Amino acid sequence: MAGATTGKILFGMLVGVVVGVLLMYFSPVPLQPGDTVRILGADGATLWEGKVAKKIATETDAGSTTPEGEVLLAGLSEDQALAALSQRGVQGTAIQLVNRESMASAAVMPPITTVLYIIGQLFIKLLKMLIIPLIVATVLVGVAGLGDVGKMGRLGKHTLLLYIGTMLVAATIGLIMVALIQPGSGLGWTSGGADAESPTVQDLILRIVPDNPLGAMVQLDVIGTLFFTILVGIAVLKLGKHKCAPFFNFFEALNDIVYVLVGWVMWLAPLGVGALLAYFIGIQVPEYISGLLASLGKFAVCVAAGLLLHFLFLTVLVPLLAKYPPFRFLAGMSPALATALGTDSSSATMPVTLTCVRNLGVSKRIAGFVVPVGATANMDGTALYEATAALFFAQAYGVDLTIGQQVLVVFTAVAAAVGAAGIPSAGLVTMTLVLTAVGLPLEGIALLFAIDRPLDMMRTAVNVYGDGVASRVVQTWNPDIRPEEDDIATAYEEVEPSAAYGD
Ligand code: ASP
Repeated sequence: MAGATTGKILFGMLVGVVVGVLLMYFSPVPLQPGDTVRILGADGATLWEGKVAKKIATETDAGSTTPEGEVLLAGLSEDQALAALSQRGVQGTAIQLVNRESMASAAVMPPITTVLYIIGQLFIKLLKMLIIPLIVATVLVGVAGLGDVGKMGRLGKHTLLLYIGTMLVAATIGLIMVALIQPGSGLGWTSGGADAESPTVQDLILRIVPDNPLGAMVQLDVIGTLFFTILVGIAVLKLGKHKCAPFFNFFEALNDIVYVLVGWVMWLAPLGVGALLAYFIGIQVPEYISGLLASLGKFAVCVAAGLLLHFLFLTVLVPLLAKYPPFRFLAGMSPALATALGTDSSSATMPVTLTCVRNLGVSKRIAGFVVPVGATANMDGTALYEATAALFFAQAYGVDLTIGQQVLVVFTAVAAAVGAAGIPSAGLVTMTLVLTAVGLPLEGIALLFAIDRPLDMMRTAVNVYGDGVASRVVQTWNPDIRPEEDDIATAYEEVEPSAAYGD
């Protein structure tokens, strides 16, 4: 079953890549609101450079300039834009894309791209729809099913150890890669002093406890929901099976129901992941990408090489700590890896990750705790990325970081990764923590947004893989929590209330 799903998802990815490349060349996206473009004259000289206005151009106003000095070209192809401009006396021969605000979205798209976008987004929404019911049911059943608080403590310790340990290794790998590849040296950036929004450490800590647990669930606040559910699970453990039977059994049933729903969504994964990839590739502009690669390519290579190295490190932990065949593990995790690549989100991938680790012989009581916590807090790929980016900025701005500052980068990178939500580009937002800690300017982050999508795909896959590895290791370290006994362990029998209070 898992093998068949993996094959189908890989096939879906392959088709997605091919369709995406075809679209990129044969059905390019028109100019987008917010694009910065350069209009070139016959001799290659720049006639005009500026922003495409947010408003979509119509037949009558195309090519005109807004009071803000932006030009109405959004929604036009290159040829249409040149024709509109020439009617207004600007005889350009070519348009170059200088900057696109985000590589992840297009506001105006050709019809096939729109269809792919809808399919991909529906797939992400289906996964997201399952996140809260899944967290509430799996965490409750997982924690309350452990039987005693001591086991919960042991599981918590093991999980924490693995999560923090692997993230520290990841951030250190990032640091070493930058030192070896030197992606930023010689760039000679200067700081303009512009500031980005920066979440503080206290913001991140205060976010853990929700004001209102139902509000947290309604707002898809994964951390708040997780915190509340773990507490309730521990309370059920304390009270004992009998007293909480009706409550527990309800969530046990919900757990099984949600897994059936996850199975249905997984059935759509080849189409969903394929559409996401095709869309993402289809909206790219080849010349613009090559320009970006020329300026930030070394940084991207550095991140990709570091992530690959960490992926290998995690894979080595599978036979070493989990005593489990690494290739079987890799094959079993591949649906989750593919979903992470497509969705850019550990949280959206969580339903798939849970199913994968359970297929890899992890008890639902272990998976129900380790995976949801991991999807929100364990982000090896993000930790590596944060450290790599900080050191890259230091090189680019010509700032020499002391050994002490580099150690600080490693620790704050881990904190920033823990604090990052499991959603696309979240790591870029918490990166401000790392940069602020060592006094680097924050404005470089804006530049990384342009190339974030492919890097986010890779780091999200590593984040999810780390959760899978930790689940398998924790299972091996806790052989007494057997998957075969899940159903016996979680069978809560109802008793008469009077008897319950009398025991
Ligand atoms: N997208 C990543 C995740 O969901 C977080 C990040 O931006 O690094 O795991």
